[in-house]
Amino acid sequence: MKPNMKNLVKQAAADLNGARHVVALTGAGISVESGIPPFRGKGGLWEKIDPMEFAHIDAFLQDPAKVWRVLIKEMKDVVDRARPNPAHLGLVRLEELGLLKATITQNVDGLHQMAGSSDVIEFHGNFAWQRCMDCQNRTETRSLDLTRIPPRCRCGGIYRPECIFFGEMIPPQHLSRSQSLAAQCDVMLVVGTSATVEPAAYMPVLSKQTGSKVIEINAAKTPLTDSVSDYLIKGQAGDIIGMIVAEVEKIRSA
Ligand code: NAD
Ligand code: ZN
Repeated sequence: MKPNMKNLVKQAAADLNGARHVVALTGAGISVESGIPPFRGKGGLWEKIDPMEFAHIDAFLQDPAKVWRVLIKEMKDVVDRARPNPAHLGLVRLEELGLLKATITQNVDGLHQMAGSSDVIEFHGNFAWQRCMDCQNRTETRSLDLTRIPPRCRCGGIYRPECIFFGEMIPPQHLSRSQSLAAQCDVMLVVGTSATVEPAAYMPVLSKQTGSKVIEINAAKTPLTDSVSDYLIKGQAGDIIGMIVAEVEKIRSA
């Protein structure tokens, strides 16, 4: 470990240990080590496909079969196989230690819940369930039969994932709960998000404005780094969160 990183890990452990109300904001980067590619950056999905052509609600409504074939089917294959990694498990440990109160995630992969986090706000909805666009019947994505694309409900309506597409509204209850958590916390851990998708990217800004510390864990700099974040611990989320948790446990057992 580089000396600078070692210091930052120690600093983060001390900041977390001294906090009363920690909230995490996570993005696609936390699930990269679980085998789910992010959207932006190296190896990201947007290098291969144009989001406006495949991930916008208008594109889906215009040609659901095309979006199912290119985007949703691939997501299902990847998400079905994915399991939580040490970063998800580390956040669960911080919750068990009484430090982390809630996790706001932009991810739709369900890995925080699978790891055992008990309070997860799925800001962009979830990919675990599908909803019939005609009768609102719900079915689990895992058990969906994809021999026919787009998959249809018994009523003939087309299924869509319960996550939101670009151009759709954030569920208002998720937005308001996230805003109050962001305003309440005294430390916000921002993990694996490029902080470019609004309004999620505004949550750390809100935290900062209300006097909280903002600790960023990311493989690269983001627009928050050097402006909103107190510091960035640069690297893989699994490694870094693992080291921070070990350090917090060391402080607590001393
Ligand atoms: P993003 O794709 O825009 O950015 C990913 C970020 O993670 C980058 O800043 C990158 O530097 C960082 N990163 C990559 N690997 C990392 C690692 N191992 N450890 C730490 N950081 C790492 O992601 P976003 O900001 O979450 O925005 C994308 C949107 O796409 C979200 O709204 C989300 O709904 C959706 N999305 C979700 C998933 C998922 O559910 N797993 C996957 C892809 C995209
Ligand atoms: Zn139906």
